[in-house]
Amino acid sequence: MGLVKLLSAVLSVRRAEKLDAQQLMELQGLRFRKLLKYAYEHSKFYRAFYLDYGIKSADIEEIGLEDLPIIDKSIMMENYDDLVTDEALKREQIESFIETAADSRAWYKGRYKVVHTSGSSGAIGLFVYGADEWEISKALGLRATGFNHPVYRRKRIVFIAATDGLFASVSSFYNLQSFLVKLLPISISSPIEKIREQINRFKPDVITGYASGLNLLAQEQLAGNIDIAPSEAFCTGDPLTASYRKLIVDAFGVNPVNMYGSSETMTMAAECSEQHQMHLYHDWVATQVVTDDGTVSRTGKLVVTNLYNFTQPLIRYQMNDVIEMEDSPCACGSSMPLIKSIAGRTEEFLWFERSSGGRDFIHPIVLAEFFVPGLEKLQFSQTSSNALLMKAVLGGDQEQVVKAIHRRMSEILSEKGLQDDVRFEVQVVGAIDNDAKTGKFQLIKPLVRA
Ligand SMILES: [Zn+2]
Repeated sequence: MGLVKLLSAVLSVRRAEKLDAQQLMELQGLRFRKLLKYAYEHSKFYRAFYLDYGIKSADIEEIGLEDLPIIDKSIMMENYDDLVTDEALKREQIESFIETAADSRAWYKGRYKVVHTSGSSGAIGLFVYGADEWEISKALGLRATGFNHPVYRRKRIVFIAATDGLFASVSSFYNLQSFLVKLLPISISSPIEKIREQINRFKPDVITGYASGLNLLAQEQLAGNIDIAPSEAFCTGDPLTASYRKLIVDAFGVNPVNMYGSSETMTMAAECSEQHQMHLYHDWVATQVVTDDGTVSRTGKLVVTNLYNFTQPLIRYQMNDVIEMEDSPCACGSSMPLIKSIAGRTEEFLWFERSSGGRDFIHPIVLAEFFVPGLEKLQFSQTSSNALLMKAVLGGDQEQVVKAIHRRMSEILSEKGLQDDVRFEVQVVGAIDNDAKTGKFQLIKPLVRA
């Protein structure tokens, strides 16, 4: 059953590749209308929200995407139980599922995929996909990797990232699972010695994972700590900077394909292999770029509409990423529009010294995805070469939440083997101010060295 759905999703994704710009917009328009009608009829939140804006049932047939009000993560989370279209989905229960689900491949209630993020603002976001919807996300992931190796070729694929939670990137990785490929997830949270040993033994044909993770592998290769010869590289999760790309090319002789996804949309853009230009997958996601006052523009915040998620409809949902669009078409011939740049967040690695000598790091995404129910906002400040202060804004039972924060942080340190080297303290605060200089929330404050 799943395979039939997947094949049909792959065929539809491949057909869309051949459309010209106008046909693509028509396809997108039809899918948008279907989603909007469904959301208006089945989501209590959208019906009430749009009625508040004077959008009535009769307008739903006509209204343009750009005339609908924008939502964001906090609006979505505040109205979660009313926003989803299945009454069986409840925020509180899904949060407990996230806390207890040990396996990224787990299905919720046997039929839903759950991914989550705490994202850059420190607030938790939950995203649920139905089984058929998940097949479309798989097809989009396969498009990004060139439709080839997961299905047709015997490859050894390594994935270096946060591998232990229900995160969008690791869930996408497990989507490559088939009897024809060999997958090795490597946790960015494991000790660096172990990462070296695992990767040398596995000898991957394909390296995938966080751009910063691939950059780390490139450094290790150039330093002579690992010796591998991958023929393909795919980056996701955090920004692929020009210096990361150069180092990966220097180390492996492979130009990485940058992919762009989120928990909201899963894979929504990737570079074409021909030009290394990033194409937005406008057949299954509708996007706009808006300035702070909501005006559509070339540069600004990305607003997405996921066109295949009917379980948890996201219509005109504003993300934190700042995007610049490219006006001219790509020389590869695809009519999917181009992103010129993504100013994602580049958080800092926290490096700690071991009492036994040497040092090891905590990856910023591990901290960005720190999840504990009842935790509303969190900030990590490194206060010395072996100490960490965690400021936390809490809802719910304070004592229980603080205990859970201690448990989770101890797990992260133990995984790295840093539990005896790093001391941490949780400080409950009423609010966490944004950075005075940038005006932005700063999740991680690295050690300021004298
Ligand atoms: Zn292209």
